[in-house]
Amino acid sequence: MIQKETYNQSFKALFQNLLPFVKPYKGMIAGTLLLTLIGSFAAQVNPILVNETVNRVEELLRQPDPFQNGMRLLLIISAIMIANELLNIGIQFGQKYFGEKIRIQVGSDLSQKAVDRILSYKMSFFAEPGNQTGYLETRINRGVESLIRLVQNFFLDILPLFSTAIIALVVMFNANVYVGLMALVIIPVYFYVSQRQAHRLKGWRRELRGHRERKNHGLINIIDSITVIKSFVREKIEGEKQFEVQMEMLDNQLQTRRTSYVFESLKSFIQQIGVVLIIILTVYLVLDGQMGIGAIMMHIMLFRNVSAPISQLHRIYDQINDALIYADGFFEVLDNDGAVEIGGPVMAEDVQGQFEVRDVNFTYPNGKQALYDVTLSLEKGKTTAIVGLSGAGKSTLINLLSKFYKPDDGVITLDGIDLEEYENGSLRDHIGLVLQKNHIFKGSIYDNILYGKIDATREEVMEASVKAYLHDQVLTLPEGYDADASNLSGGQQQRIAIARLFLKNPPVIFLDEPTASLDAIATEHIKMSLDAIKEGRTVVIISHSLSQIVDADVIHVLKEGRLVETGSHESLYKLDGEYRKIFDASARSLNLGKMLDTLAV
Ligand code: ADP
Repeated sequence: MIQKETYNQSFKALFQNLLPFVKPYKGMIAGTLLLTLIGSFAAQVNPILVNETVNRVEELLRQPDPFQNGMRLLLIISAIMIANELLNIGIQFGQKYFGEKIRIQVGSDLSQKAVDRILSYKMSFFAEPGNQTGYLETRINRGVESLIRLVQNFFLDILPLFSTAIIALVVMFNANVYVGLMALVIIPVYFYVSQRQAHRLKGWRRELRGHRERKNHGLINIIDSITVIKSFVREKIEGEKQFEVQMEMLDNQLQTRRTSYVFESLKSFIQQIGVVLIIILTVYLVLDGQMGIGAIMMHIMLFRNVSAPISQLHRIYDQINDALIYADGFFEVLDNDGAVEIGGPVMAEDVQGQFEVRDVNFTYPNGKQALYDVTLSLEKGKTTAIVGLSGAGKSTLINLLSKFYKPDDGVITLDGIDLEEYENGSLRDHIGLVLQKNHIFKGSIYDNILYGKIDATREEVMEASVKAYLHDQVLTLPEGYDADASNLSGGQQQRIAIARLFLKNPPVIFLDEPTASLDAIATEHIKMSLDAIKEGRTVVIISHSLSQIVDADVIHVLKEGRLVETGSHESLYKLDGEYRKIFDASARSLNLGKMLDTLAV
């Protein structure tokens, strides 16, 4: 009982959530409904016509010259039937086309709304468990798919069938109350069987989808890790893992089919019993003189109209269930007002780049505290290096400075104004961010650089490309700037990121290990580019490269989320603490002694 109530509640919620998306098409919906209604009436014309025809023919047979009048009757009936069929074609086309149009438009609105909402959410939304790339995508896709199917079902399947059934039932009652009652009595039995079928298949269908996903995922995994699989000779194990999934799926599919066939046969048997009962009753009524002989055929045909939608019930029930399950997850993504990124009123203009971080604590949405009581300054126009072992909180600090996340407590100011006060877009327009691996969009090199400043001229793009040491390399490509950027090497992609930075020309620059995955020449080029862009800007650099650290005006050392040392390279080295430990280890890893010997020769 409780379950049923929750079911009704979620159904209501689903309907309310979906309503705003369907509303814009209310004219089209009203038209479709009208066509549906006309179609439902038209569907009863044939049975009624058959009734008339048989009764008239039977009458004609008793007349001396049945042919003369018969021909006229034949002509009239044929004309009505053809006219009705033509009308039906028109109605069906209109109804299907508009139903489909509603479905497609609602589907595209739902998808676009999801995209718009997601773009408006803060970074912490994406860091939440359950919102990572794969999961979020699946939730949205599944939600849209099941809602589209629901809309389609409603307009293209349920409504026409049910309105046809109801009108057929009314016609049956109108012709004879007992026949109508007989048809009505069979419906609950039929209904019950359909519902049992839906119930039995419910779990299995979901399981089947799970198997399918695991199968696809398994395959993707194999392709992704083929080098490791081959190098460890694990082909057999991987094959066996897939085989298990395959077997489970096979089992499930066979069971689903078996159940379906049993229920389909049962339903078809019940329907046949219904037909038989209708025949018995109508024949009795005909023999009793209460009806013309044509009524037998008419009622059989009408009964088929009545029973048709019920045979679809299990499918409809199933799809509504699906929609209830997946729509919840989908609308949760859509209605997450708390996740919307809200900026302050201050438009960042003429940014100097003086940051103050005061007593900042920060915890990620998964509960991991990454910064403890951090207080530091980033001087305007200076280069500050953040040093620390992996996991010390360096990137987290840059995330907070970019206002991607909000501190738990404490405050970060830029030019004396709390970051929270700034309008987000205007703030980020003044910040350039280069990461270890920068995202390169599918598309040409030119377009990828242009992303830094959408309205840049071709000359500006070229200039930025030259400054980023990219231009000469692009010229060696057959397609030049039109070449697909996603095929470039890591070093070349990094140069694109630097070129974007030159184009954007921000007063504040955050560099998060910009040369970590590059070869020596690329590292040198990028260091030269960065040295050129650093002039007069506030730069924060995270790097493991000693050359980039020692160049910094100030160095902050983080350890396990806490600021432990601050100073210049020389002073920190003398301090003989955390910085020196890291510096010495880096120097040893470079085998500096031997290198110096080589260079001295
Ligand atoms: P660093 O840049 O110094 O290597 P990070 O700032 O990336 O370190 O990470 C600091 C700590 O926060 C690490 O323990 C890391 O696991 C955790 N962390 C980083 N990003 C996230 C995230 N999106 N969600 C949860 N924890 C995170």
